[in-house]
Amino acid sequence: MYYKQYGDTQMKVSAIGMGCMRYDDEDIKAGNLEKCAEIVLYAHEKGINYFDTAPFYCDDKSEIITGMALSQLPRDSYYVSSKTNMGTVGGKCTAEDFRKRLETTLTRLKVDYLDFYHLWCVLSLDAFEKQCDALYKFFEQAKAEGLIRNIVFSSHMQGNDLEEAVDKDLFKGMLIGYNALNYRFRQTGIEAAYKKGMGVVVMNPLSGGLIPSNPETFAYLAEGTDLTVPQAALRFVASHKEITITLNGFTTKEHVDDACKAVENLVEKPAKEICTEYENKGIALNNLCTGCAYCKHCPKDIDIPKFMDAYNEHILGNNMKDRIKGHWGMSVSKAAECISCGKCESLCTQHLPIIERLHEITVNCQ
Ligand code: SF4
Ligand code: SF4
Repeated sequence: MYYKQYGDTQMKVSAIGMGCMRYDDEDIKAGNLEKCAEIVLYAHEKGINYFDTAPFYCDDKSEIITGMALSQLPRDSYYVSSKTNMGTVGGKCTAEDFRKRLETTLTRLKVDYLDFYHLWCVLSLDAFEKQCDALYKFFEQAKAEGLIRNIVFSSHMQGNDLEEAVDKDLFKGMLIGYNALNYRFRQTGIEAAYKKGMGVVVMNPLSGGLIPSNPETFAYLAEGTDLTVPQAALRFVASHKEITITLNGFTTKEHVDDACKAVENLVEKPAKEICTEYENKGIALNNLCTGCAYCKHCPKDIDIPKFMDAYNEHILGNNMKDRIKGHWGMSVSKAAECISCGKCESLCTQHLPIIERLHEITVNCQ
């Protein structure tokens, strides 16, 4: 296993982390939780020492399964992370609500403290401010009491918004979605976090299965290697100097082995260098938006890169409405405000038919 330092801390973490949200569904339904826990032990045996869980994952069993496994291991041989936010805390977000949620997580994980506790799933800067106002003081209190060691956040914000969040100097690290399809959207965010000495953990490195299910589109990632396309996509993320841990969900031991192979003899490079290397042979060759944001200044204030990112998902076979609403937290109706001025299309580095795509989104996603 290849190890990296978590931001400016002394923690040595595995370049691959286990995202504990892919335990076998059938085993969970049948109550075979111990069988699921074996995957955690196997991953640990292979050198993985970072385990990321949350309430509600896997029918709300993920923390329990993860705890069943981790409690068999020395406490100083792994790092465990979980998450909370206003929605998870519920009620009026009081100190008691927060504490109850945290204690449930600690009990389920069978630990006295969490190494990382996330302010979970912040979709926008507004939400970031609101959630920090409501909860940050409770995170600090829990840290002062030794119940959590590092306060971190997870987000789907775009690069420039991430830069602002990073600038608040409140968090030791962040968890974001980053992969060979969307890297341009968040690159400035990871660079800013790295400069600040924050750890950067990446979720969704295979773009929700889109990369493995479109091997031809992403074949360029594996060119000249003995890796499969999904392995090469993991390596693409893990090789960023700015990225500390690449999370991967495992259902089987083979999944663990695959991910470990992806970071064998890893060579780290700055994001800019990696992007230059891939830019001319990768998504730029396809009919996909690269997230470069040259089209940003729309007179109707339409966030074109985010809508085009959702259209990427559609091209590759995913649901674009879910992406617009669930991932980006935007209203579909904003796409209908396009007045076809053509400004964005004249600036688009990919020469995409943005007006037509916005129209299609308007018609198909209501
Ligand atoms: S064509 Fe539509 S989306 Fe593009 S800049 Fe004009 S109003 Fe905005
Ligand atoms: S300029 Fe084109 S490729 Fe770049 S973000 Fe805008 S739509 Fe996407």
